[in-house]
Amino acid sequence: MTSPVFYRKWRPQTFAQVVGQEHVTRTLLNALKAGRVAHAYLFCGPRGTGKTSTGRILAKAVNCLGGGDGEPCNACPLCEAITAGHAMDVMEIDAASNRGIDEIRELRERVKFAPNMARYKVYIIDEVHMLTEPAANALLKTLEEPPPHVLFVLATTEPHKVPPTILSRCQRFDFRRISLQDMVSRLMGICEKEGIEIEPTALKLIARSATGSMRDAENLLEQLVAYYGNKIELHQVQALLGITGDVRARELARYMVAGDIAAGLATINQVNHDGLDLRQFNRELVEYLRGLLLIRAGSEEALDLDADTLAEMRGLAQKASMDQLSKAVKLFREVDVDFDGFSPIPLELAFVECASTAEEAATMPTKEEAPPAPQAAEAKGVEKMPPPPPEIEHLRSRWRDVVEAVKGLGSKGQLDAYLRSACEPLAVEGDTLVLGFYYAFHKEKIEDPKYRHMVEAKVSEVFATPYKIRCTLIGPKGKGHLVEAALQMGARIVEEEE
Ligand SMILES: [Zn+2]
Repeated sequence: MTSPVFYRKWRPQTFAQVVGQEHVTRTLLNALKAGRVAHAYLFCGPRGTGKTSTGRILAKAVNCLGGGDGEPCNACPLCEAITAGHAMDVMEIDAASNRGIDEIRELRERVKFAPNMARYKVYIIDEVHMLTEPAANALLKTLEEPPPHVLFVLATTEPHKVPPTILSRCQRFDFRRISLQDMVSRLMGICEKEGIEIEPTALKLIARSATGSMRDAENLLEQLVAYYGNKIELHQVQALLGITGDVRARELARYMVAGDIAAGLATINQVNHDGLDLRQFNRELVEYLRGLLLIRAGSEEALDLDADTLAEMRGLAQKASMDQLSKAVKLFREVDVDFDGFSPIPLELAFVECASTAEEAATMPTKEEAPPAPQAAEAKGVEKMPPPPPEIEHLRSRWRDVVEAVKGLGSKGQLDAYLRSACEPLAVEGDTLVLGFYYAFHKEKIEDPKYRHMVEAKVSEVFATPYKIRCTLIGPKGKGHLVEAALQMGARIVEEEE
């Protein structure tokens, strides 16, 4: 079959076709319509988000012989030459290559000459942060006194490495990672035109694994077509990505039984990062845990498994208690991944609870002699005070609005999931809102100043009052809630558990 090289073939040719960067393309179109094009642009952003493609479109737009609404016509000789990469006056330089550095040195000389055919000479310099110091100086000299017929488009994945002297001479645009939805609809369009039959779940998995890079997504789709032809199924995508939920589910069950919380959380995050469907993963996990439970209960004949798998599962089931396994099946069955917008938090919470059972079983001689639970330990730091003011009730009753307000913010845009499921407003102390977290790892996340400031800003905004945030650990949800009970009786937290 012919190799289409999708990302070249389906490269956007107009600003309207650039996916997910409307904030950039709209501004550029307005500038073009108004005839106010800058001499130098800096396009920053992750790889595969359309920086150089937009640079080429801009090169066409300023030189196009037809059109007039800002978009290139893609039909005139100049547009065609630029699309084909033959235009004498449009130069693409890869600053990361040795040749690129020589080209920059020559550029200072060549830049003085008028364009051959086009209105503008356009220099598209990719990975501009890679320029050596002499090359960066040469570029800076040109940027300081740009000839009127020259347009620079500098692109970089690492704007913090671009010398400030260069930054200050450019109009900067930040390209965003392309959203899952935008990427899926773009891939769907390509599949339609290429006659590729593919399940939506498979497209979603491709998009997720590309983590915001359209080029990676298109390359992966192309690879799939090369391997499997024009009919692609989910399991084929999983196979190509090396993702088999089954293996990870077994791994997670092992960590649960061993009580290794850190390793288990790492597995969940890896599964999420690799773009595996969390619902599907959870189904496989529940199925596996059920298998362990049946084996532990002596009903393994109910399972249709090969001898090797059965032997492996027997070994693991023996290390777990019936209590732990039945609790795990129950908790993971109740996990509602959809509720938190496909965040891994519900899985993490269920896992920590189940893995903690293993730890308790290992450290506690009997239930009666159990050491105090975290809540009880913290309750020691609770002293009797006058009844709590109604302010906290007000904050609690409108907490949902705060959750709404942080939607899309934070790590992978999942800050809202943390505020919805991992904590609750506990108390107000002066201008500080105390948030009670069920587990330390979520608390630590929100304590990171960059997230804490986001939460503080949104809480202050929603309640029109400046609030600071303090995070404290209250132990697993629904496990007695001694602290809450104490607070309701008029206590206040005086010390925080370490
Ligand atoms: Zn044109």
